[in-house]
Amino acid sequence: MRIGCGIDVHPLIKGEKLILGGIHIPSEVGAKGHSDADCLTHAIVDALLGAGGLGDIGQHFPPSEEKYRGISSLIFLEEVQNLLDSQGFRISNVDASIALEKPKLASYVSKMCESISIHLAIQKDQVNIKATTFEGLGMIGRGEGVMVYAVALIQPND
Ligand code: MG
Repeated sequence: MRIGCGIDVHPLIKGEKLILGGIHIPSEVGAKGHSDADCLTHAIVDALLGAGGLGDIGQHFPPSEEKYRGISSLIFLEEVQNLLDSQGFRISNVDASIALEKPKLASYVSKMCESISIHLAIQKDQVNIKATTFEGLGMIGRGEGVMVYAVALIQPND
């Protein structure tokens, strides 16, 4: 078995959408980034690439490339799953913590797990997502950004 971790941060500003795990979360502010700025998906992609010893998201999907502008990050999940499969690995499980001051995410977690599992071609119970706040502390606490930490375990295909 192999394990990988991933971390991602995006600034939150007015006039942008907040997309997490491919799910649109109604919010006064949204995440700024080159693609759809899906912080959760980006952290999971990095965790999976890390587990596979395959570098990082910036190498595989460079923000300098015009084709990734505004794109749904869910396609990154599909590409990474295909890459792992071609290297002889399958995904055991993915776990992630979202640090966001508001809005509350509890009612969206199940949808996020489903969305991510579909794009990784795994079962919903292989994906776990948690939400937390920073209790008002620092950039997350002031609502200036969203941060996600993810871990992923992979194992050889039999
Ligand atoms: Mg990102």
